[in-house]
Amino acid sequence: MIPLHLDWKKPADGVELEHVPFGQGDADPQLAIKSRSGRFEPKTYRLESLENPIVLHLVNARNDDDFKRFVSRFGTPRTDFGDIAYLRAMEVLRDDLTQDLEFCTDPSLNRIVDSEYLLQRVTLTPSFAYSESTDRYRLVLSVTNLEGLMRMEIAMALEVGATLIHCKHCSKAFLAGPMTRRRTDAVYCSDRCRVEGFKHAKTINQKGSGV
Ligand SMILES: [Zn+2]
Repeated sequence: MIPLHLDWKKPADGVELEHVPFGQGDADPQLAIKSRSGRFEPKTYRLESLENPIVLHLVNARNDDDFKRFVSRFGTPRTDFGDIAYLRAMEVLRDDLTQDLEFCTDPSLNRIVDSEYLLQRVTLTPSFAYSESTDRYRLVLSVTNLEGLMRMEIAMALEVGATLIHCKHCSKAFLAGPMTRRRTDAVYCSDRCRVEGFKHAKTINQKGSGV
C-alpha cells in the first residue's frame, strides 16, 4: 500500500478565541480560533492505523474548549481562511464527519457504494519522498489538508470494517475492531473510564443491597 501523509502545521504557543470579520464587506465578525503568538511548528501526519484517529478528537468535541484543544494539538482543519478556524465552521465539519463516520461504520448499510460522496471530497497527490533510514525515495500520497486526512481515516475504518462504539462511562465515540487495537466488545474508551465505570457500578450495587 502506498503510504498516505500530510505535511501540516500547528500553533506553537497555544490558541485563543477572537472575533474575526467573516469574508468581505459588512458581515458580522465571527468567533474564530487563532494562534496565540502567530508562531507555528511543522507537523507530519501519517495514516498507518486507527489506534488514535484524529477525526475522533473532532467528533468528540462538545464545546469551545474542545475545539480550541483540537486546533492547538493538530492545527486547523483547512487553510481557506489563512491560519484561523471559525468556530461555526468547526461545528459544521464536526457534524458532517460524525455523520460520515456513523454511516461508514454501520454494517447494515451498503457503505462501499455510498461512500462516493466521502471520497469525492479528498484530493490526493502522488510524490516521491526521501527516507533517511533507507536512503531511498519512496512513493507517497499527500492529502491536501487535515480535513482530507480525517476523511481518509473514515474511509480506512470503512475498508477494514471498524466498529463505532460510544463509551459506557463518558459517552465519547471510539473505534474498535481491525487496526484499532480494541476488541469490538469493548464498552469503555479508556482505562480511566473503565475504572470510573466499575466504581459507579459498585456504588449502585451497594445502594441496591443497602450497604
Ligand atoms: Zn470514556
